[in-house]
Amino acid sequence: MHRKQQQGRWCRLLCRAVLLPALALAALSAGAQAPGAQRGVPVLVYHRFGPVAADSMTVRTATFEAHLRMLAAQGYHVVPLADVVRWQQGGPDALPERAVAITADDGHRSVFDVMLPIARREHVPVTLFIYPSAISNAAYALTWDQLRALKETGLFAVQSHSYWHPNFNTERRRLAPEAFRAFAHMQLRRARERLEQELGGPVRWLAWPFGIHDEELMAIAASEGVEAAFSLQGSAVTLASPRLALPRFLMTDACGDGCLARMLAQATAPASPAVSRSQTSPPHASRPRAGAAQ
Ligand SMILES: [Zn+2]
Repeated sequence: MHRKQQQGRWCRLLCRAVLLPALALAALSAGAQAPGAQRGVPVLVYHRFGPVAADSMTVRTATFEAHLRMLAAQGYHVVPLADVVRWQQGGPDALPERAVAITADDGHRSVFDVMLPIARREHVPVTLFIYPSAISNAAYALTWDQLRALKETGLFAVQSHSYWHPNFNTERRRLAPEAFRAFAHMQLRRARERLEQELGGPVRWLAWPFGIHDEELMAIAASEGVEAAFSLQGSAVTLASPRLALPRFLMTDACGDGCLARMLAQATAPASPAVSRSQTSPPHASRPRAGAAQ
């Protein structure tokens, strides 16, 4: 046997006998220590901002600023939602400890007037979920130019919130099954196409309107190329979360900085069978009400 062959054989034997078990052990211990192994990552969803909480979906500017101050003071790191999605889908765990992501749904003008200057000042990344029918159309909504300006800051990503924010439960009652499926496909496809045409892409994530989703809708989303979709379920994203129903915490003005701190502490605590789901849900993360755009 040639020396080289011998060396190769020895290496193969050595690899099997020593290196593989050692690597497996290292992987196990890394898994035990890796923060991503058991950690939950909270994703917050805001809607509108203003000087007063004029409705249930408006968070006062002062409350939003207090939230960000609390996050910084308690060592939370606001990371781009893309990092959370990558981690959740099995990518290399590049998330810092105490990672949190911020999103804002519906494309309200106050995202430009109020949220943008604060996000710039604090260097906070935000993902917007937009339904294109309202943009440059409804009086309360952002314009396409404003969305382009938001994207150009490098802090804001823009993804889909369906085309016109339908209530899929209502539409399912109204339409025959085949017509409903065609409607749902249209809502997701038109939103993606319009967003990519106006702002560039790729648009591969979806926030379910009103958080409404089920197996049929998730199958339709998957067939439309949606790679991650978000609900309003009020818990942290974990490695076990379904990728087309990733939970988010609905933020309202009733939850100030102390409330948010308690909520995040609970949400990111190691899972315990003694802690029931109701205890880990924030008090305000109630089911979406019909008629309120969420
Ligand atoms: Zn919405």
